[in-house]
Amino acid sequence: MKTKKNEPMWKHTTWRIGGPVDTLLQPESVAELQQAIQQAKDTALPFYVIGGGSNLLVADDGIRGTVIQLGGSLCQLNIENQTIYAEAGVPLPVLARKAAEHNLSGLEFAAGIPGTIGGAVVMNAGAYQGQISDVVEQVVCCDKTGQLFTLTAEECQFAYRNSRFKKNNGYIIVSVKLQLNKGKKEEILTQMQKNTAARNAKQPVEYPSAGSIFKNPPGDAAGRLIELIGAKGWVQGGAMVSEKHSNFIVNTGKATCEDVLLLVERIKQAVKERTGVSLEEEILLLDKENP
Ligand SMILES: Cc1cc2nc3c(=O)[nH]c(=O)nc-3n(C[C@H](O)[C@H](O)[C@H](O)COP(=O)(O)OP(=O)(O)OC[C@H]3O[C@@H](n4cnc5c(N)ncnc54)[C@H](O)[C@@H]3O)c2cc1C
Repeated sequence: MKTKKNEPMWKHTTWRIGGPVDTLLQPESVAELQQAIQQAKDTALPFYVIGGGSNLLVADDGIRGTVIQLGGSLCQLNIENQTIYAEAGVPLPVLARKAAEHNLSGLEFAAGIPGTIGGAVVMNAGAYQGQISDVVEQVVCCDKTGQLFTLTAEECQFAYRNSRFKKNNGYIIVSVKLQLNKGKKEEILTQMQKNTAARNAKQPVEYPSAGSIFKNPPGDAAGRLIELIGAKGWVQGGAMVSEKHSNFIVNTGKATCEDVLLLVERIKQAVKERTGVSLEEEILLLDKENP
């Protein structure tokens, strides 16, 4: 298992923002994950499990304790007929592509979503009318004692960008069993290419970001409300509300967590004043108060 001390978290988030964590552990097997949990608990400081860091805003002064990172490790993948078994660290775009190669349909929506299958289950990631809960059958988890257990999809309590795993509540996702439909490789790949092209046209993929900042309020789009208040192009330090997609805040070079939080607050206040809608963050803050 790789161990890094005083490791800058900006290196492990797609936003390229965040101060150092005391210890970063990168377990490569389930046994190493259990060992990492024990090691983290022995410090008596909090610990936090992350995947690809593609939905995370990490505080400028970093995190005390341990981050256990499963992105780039725990990457075993098995396909049997229409069932896929994927360890938590498998990148979601890799999983989607493997499914297509095996003529399996159901993950077309996921081709361009960064991060890991573990993170996607936590967030119930989705796009283009699909979400990961559509294909999840079971999730193998580990609790903070290292004990393994299995949850059914129903027990995962999936909802819009939500599941029982959010809030670092003691469930660590180890692997996921997915049930897909039979399809045709060419058709699946064509749909994925269409989705990716639409994503590249709409999103500021040339800048570091964490995807959408806010969830869509019922019956509306957060981006529409942000555009309505004229927030496109608002700048705070190195952070900017994207001109291309108003629900994205991009890092133009030296953005800090503080810059992003100030923009988020400014947008929320202006949207509330103008429309009465309270926007809710989709991104997750990782700091001393929210370990
Ligand atoms: C350019 C861009 C586009 C995006 N587009 C979309 C989109 O279309 N749709 C969408 O839904 N999201 C989108 N996102 C957001 C993000 O990619 C998803 O939320 C993704 O599923 C997060 O996965 P991750 O592995 O990076 O999770 P992380 O950001 O590392 O973590 C997210 C949460 O999951 C927890 N977590 C991660 N792994 C585990 C685990 N194994 N066990 C327990 N908890 C865990 C973390 O503690 C944290 O609470 C986008 C992001 C970017 C940068």
